[in-house]
Amino acid sequence: GTRLQRMSDRIDSLTSSAYQQALEVIASVEPRIAEATRQELDDQRSSLKLIASENYASPAVLLTMGTWFSDKYAEGTVGHRFYAGCQNVDTVEALAAEHARELFGAPYAYAQPHSGIDANLVAYWAILAHRVETPALAKLEAKNVNELSAAQWETLRNELGNQRLLGMSLDAGGHLTHGFRPNISGKMFHQQQYGTDPETGLLDYDALAAKAREFKPLILVAGYSAYPRRVDFAKMREIADEVGATLMVDMAHFAGLVAGKVFTGDEDPVPHAHVVTTTTHKSLRGPRGGLVLAQEDFAPEVDRGCPMVLGGPLSHVMAAKAVALAEARQPEFRAYAQQVADNAKSLADGFMSRGAKLVTDGTDNHLVLLDVSGFGLTGRQAESALLDAGVVTNRNSVPQDPNGAWYTSGIRLGTPALTTRGFGHDEFDRVAELIVHVLQNTQPGTTKAGGPSKASYTLGEGVADKVRDASAEMLDKHPLYPGIDLS
Ligand code: PLP
Repeated sequence: GTRLQRMSDRIDSLTSSAYQQALEVIASVEPRIAEATRQELDDQRSSLKLIASENYASPAVLLTMGTWFSDKYAEGTVGHRFYAGCQNVDTVEALAAEHARELFGAPYAYAQPHSGIDANLVAYWAILAHRVETPALAKLEAKNVNELSAAQWETLRNELGNQRLLGMSLDAGGHLTHGFRPNISGKMFHQQQYGTDPETGLLDYDALAAKAREFKPLILVAGYSAYPRRVDFAKMREIADEVGATLMVDMAHFAGLVAGKVFTGDEDPVPHAHVVTTTTHKSLRGPRGGLVLAQEDFAPEVDRGCPMVLGGPLSHVMAAKAVALAEARQPEFRAYAQQVADNAKSLADGFMSRGAKLVTDGTDNHLVLLDVSGFGLTGRQAESALLDAGVVTNRNSVPQDPNGAWYTSGIRLGTPALTTRGFGHDEFDRVAELIVHVLQNTQPGTTKAGGPSKASYTLGEGVADKVRDASAEMLDKHPLYPGIDLS
């Protein structure tokens, strides 16, 4: 009603003046940073943001990050800090953890990880400590590793460094931290990777179970960065239990769909996994950061994340996590999450009805993986041509990609950001149409030697302008941060 409208108008006007004044203060010290900040807003406002891992956090979340909580050291945990004067940080961290536990129905939450990768490192370390170190210490009747003799310590270190991890391969849609060899996770663990069925592009649980039986990992990692389908976490837990593995789920990409109850039952990782990690800035729409959720018995080891794995907590970001998680507990967030998934279907249908090929022939989460080889392009060429037309995506390998991880044959597109702006079915169908138009009008270039280039390309005359105009029409209808006026 009108009262709600008045309240929202007042928030808009406060937000506007907060940012006008903040930029003036920043400009008084380093005007180029104020200018870049202003420019970033203009750029985000005027482009079609389809990067599946990005979103637009609310002004309340953004404003929360810009405070004096940034000035405070707070190593340790709530009520148990290595620094004095942490009473307000305690309030903030306790609230962030409480919102996370309530929102996800998790017995325990840790709000300190600075990012998704950091959350995974904390989780790995906690699982190693829980499964290997703690039992070894108990057997030796030692309280901690400082009490071990040199020989005992050497034995334990060797054991910790020789554990097995089974995760989804990068080219099937897994993340670097799930055991990719060049990543720290691939070096700290004896790793193997599972993929997807070469025909269907779908997870093959029987093949995965067979691999797990043979390899007997300490940790089975589920979760993905570029897999366009839902995962059956009940089945994943069954496989983990059968081989004695700890199931860790990295829900960084789809945490918003879990929070918004689009993924429930077997598709909700929280009741099935021993440990769940996430970022807070993707579909969850919070500040850049991470979270670890866990079953109670892993809590003591996860709590030692900082300072044993992580640097000092970012209290200002934990405060913003608390605000974002409070938002995600509102009924509006469920509607948002459902719209994210519905829009991904509209986008997928928009591509397929125009003859474009998608990995797994569709989606049932927030992202689609478009195979651009049918347009005669590499992912790199497609990504660049689309960017010229104001469409921001990222190139991504497709399963068994002949062009490798650098040039790739795919484009990953996600709906969380534009759904926040208010895009619906018709707009996402139009987005698919515009993207197909760009790709149909992009020609691969040639190398200096005259061979086919994987990077250079030419975009047809006038295509970029036409697509930018069509996008502008939709973007103007759904303004980004309508409450912020910096003019
Ligand atoms: N885990 C998954 C599944 C991801 O997709 C990402 C994002 O790139 C990360 C972890 C890493 O998150 P961050 O960049 O916050 O460290």
